[in-house]
Amino acid sequence: MLRTVTVAFVLAMASASHAQDGGRLAAAASAMGAANLNTIEYTGSGQVFGFGQAYEPGERWPRFVQRSYTAAVNYQTPGMRLTQVRAQGEHPPRGGAAQPVAGEQRTILVVSDKYAWQEGGPQAAPNPGAVQDRLRQMWVTPHGVIKAALANAGRVDGSTITFSIAGRAIKASLNEQNLVDKVSFLSSSEVVGDYPIEITYADYADFGGVKFPRRIVQTEDGHPTLDITISAVRPNTAVALDVPANVQNAPPPGPLTVAVEKLADGVWYLSTPNARSWLVEFNDHVVLVEGMTGEARSLAINAEIAKLSNKPLRYVVNTHAHYDHAGGLRTYVAQGTTIVTHELNKPFYEKAWARPRTIAPDLLSKSPKPALFETVGDKKVLTDGTQTLELYHMKGTSHNVANMIVFMPRHGLVYWGDGYNPPAGDPRDTARTPEQSIDLYRVIAANNLDVKTIAPAHGAGPKPFDNLKKHIGLIP
Ligand SMILES: [Zn+2]
Repeated sequence: MLRTVTVAFVLAMASASHAQDGGRLAAAASAMGAANLNTIEYTGSGQVFGFGQAYEPGERWPRFVQRSYTAAVNYQTPGMRLTQVRAQGEHPPRGGAAQPVAGEQRTILVVSDKYAWQEGGPQAAPNPGAVQDRLRQMWVTPHGVIKAALANAGRVDGSTITFSIAGRAIKASLNEQNLVDKVSFLSSSEVVGDYPIEITYADYADFGGVKFPRRIVQTEDGHPTLDITISAVRPNTAVALDVPANVQNAPPPGPLTVAVEKLADGVWYLSTPNARSWLVEFNDHVVLVEGMTGEARSLAINAEIAKLSNKPLRYVVNTHAHYDHAGGLRTYVAQGTTIVTHELNKPFYEKAWARPRTIAPDLLSKSPKPALFETVGDKKVLTDGTQTLELYHMKGTSHNVANMIVFMPRHGLVYWGDGYNPPAGDPRDTARTPEQSIDLYRVIAANNLDVKTIAPAHGAGPKPFDNLKKHIGLIP
């Protein structure tokens, strides 16, 4: 109750102190029905897309069917529960984002004041790192924009409103009816740096005295990430966002720790949550396979490499340009390590790494330098006579046009970025259909590789090659 009073007081003060340019803002609040709106729930369906997971570097994001999209917002908490159900969109699959999806996949993401978590599992999964992004997502909803502009000294210039939330500038525009029709702001990616997010709100209708758009389209870095038609809006419905005890009591995230597992002599599997790399030791240097996620991980991996070997890191192999696989590369560019990737990726990376990175500066943006590349066509072998890494372009596969697998002939080990990420339980991995695993099998067979173990970038760790054969139905 106390919190409600405080928010109302701040809102009143903010609108009073900006009365001179707040006329249009007040008109928008009135037109939208924002003043007495404390909660709202809206549901729609349409399409959703996998940001950073394009089939071809720089092209549109892969498309999925959004069976349902339900946002339950409580502006007073403040917080939001976003429930999304997606299904496979493209046949055959084209691109990443954990496709092909078999059946339906539900995700429930929640933010409530200082806490963020995911629901749907046996217990809520805390995700403190997501609080700011999810709160921002809530404040850029149609009515959230008006409320946030009022509470954060929003400036009005013609039909444009600008304000900032936690240091991030947000720009919104009003249509002739004073309804919010567009919101834009910058976000940050570990691959492309600053990039624009734009949301358009169109086709407004009245829902119990509150105006709400029936069409919402969001683009990220120029390509759609969400395109939905709204079917139901419930203003001032009960939206409970109670923080589960295990989320409240979760310890603050500590430094990223790297788990080390020896795969063979001079070969280690370096794992952080859902991201695994190989470290391979040669006579006078070491090679890292996959610079995943982002700079925090690359620095933690660097520290681990220093414990395992005193040889310099000369190469980082990159299997493909999906952002979860490429986000850690900039750190290696900054430290002068050569990036080994398919030749099709080089122009994309050169362009991406030269873009501004002001929102979340990293080593490379603070000290820019050109990347050193060794590119791969159909095949490349890194060898010093003792240790050998073979890189094969996976031609004609659906996951990514410039995808590579890494193979160590001496140990029968194969690393692949994606597609078949061996699950802990049933090797048939029934949550996904096997198209992309068949691609992997086809490349292995076409090159006569004697694979014994798959130790890929995601999943539950090294598994026998037979697990892949079970998944694609080659053996029972
Ligand atoms: Zn991928």
